[in-house]
Amino acid sequence: MPHAPRHPCLHPGCPALLERGESRCPMHKRQHQQAYERTRGTATERGYDADHRKWRAAVLARDPICKACGTERSTFADHIVPLKQGGAKLDLANGQGLCSHCHQVKRGRERHQEQAPPARWPPKRPGWA
Ligand SMILES: [Zn+2]
Ligand SMILES: [Zn+2]
Repeated sequence: MPHAPRHPCLHPGCPALLERGESRCPMHKRQHQQAYERTRGTATERGYDADHRKWRAAVLARDPICKACGTERSTFADHIVPLKQGGAKLDLANGQGLCSHCHQVKRGRERHQEQAPPARWPPKRPGWA
């Protein structure tokens, strides 16, 4: 076995020198692991993470007025198909802006439906009531 010289961290521009067998310095190892976990989607526990905030901002930008009542300003980015019913968390197509009142109403419905099979949501006709 030839002598293996220390080599730099894989992170571009990082000056840390590592022993053989290591690929990243401890700091970049952690960063890399976190990025990896994000892409694997194991971050469900974290809930309102950076990706979710971006999704929420995009939904509210697209739906500035509540999609349910059509009059109030949207303040909630709602998942049309709830996550616990398998709705996509970060899909704009599964997002809609709701005002706080309509959000409450929908949340209440979802609680009733939790035992039931999914969902009369989304409704067939526009302007659900
Ligand atoms: Zn590094
Ligand atoms: Zn509303």
